[in-house]
Amino acid sequence: MSYLLYGCYIFHFAVRCFDFDRTEWLAREPTSITPLSLPMDYYFIHHSEASHCEAVERCMVLMRAIQDYHQIDLGWADIGYNFLVGEDGKVYEGRGWETQGSHTGEWNPVSYGVCIMGTFFDFSPNEAALTATQRLMQCGVDKGYLSADYTVHGHRDGMCRTCPGDYFYFNELASWDRFHGCLGGYCTEPENCIRV
Ligand SMILES: [Zn+2]
Repeated sequence: MSYLLYGCYIFHFAVRCFDFDRTEWLAREPTSITPLSLPMDYYFIHHSEASHCEAVERCMVLMRAIQDYHQIDLGWADIGYNFLVGEDGKVYEGRGWETQGSHTGEWNPVSYGVCIMGTFFDFSPNEAALTATQRLMQCGVDKGYLSADYTVHGHRDGMCRTCPGDYFYFNELASWDRFHGCLGGYCTEPENCIRV
């Protein structure tokens, strides 16, 4: 990568907090948009429960596949998450900072949904993906999209789901500074979220 391109990449991340926008991964347009009332108080982590990617080209193929699944198969307005992260250490724009996502049911209007591409029942995402996810959160606070006292949760903390995978949830996510566990709507029998 040339110095010029690298400089451009850094500039982009600083301004928008993510690495690749919708144009870059060849997204289709949303069929409708619901604006969010900023800032958000909650940050939900998901896994895609599908393939992993460790290279940009492959992650962009997965982005298009996830959008196809959400938009064509499920009939949603757009790819469900606000952002997606690959194990290439890059952040990909989904619905972005200002549009409500479809990811955690009743929590959608007050939260961001961020999906790490891969399946994490038995191990955590790699360091590159974890670092990118935390960098995205901090940048969101710096830009005023996330409130300063926001909390972090897994999908299962707000709905009865196994997402983002037992291993990732219990052995990694639960140790994050802003992690705050069960919120409401979680599974009760058996309860699979952490009470903080
Ligand atoms: Zn999820």
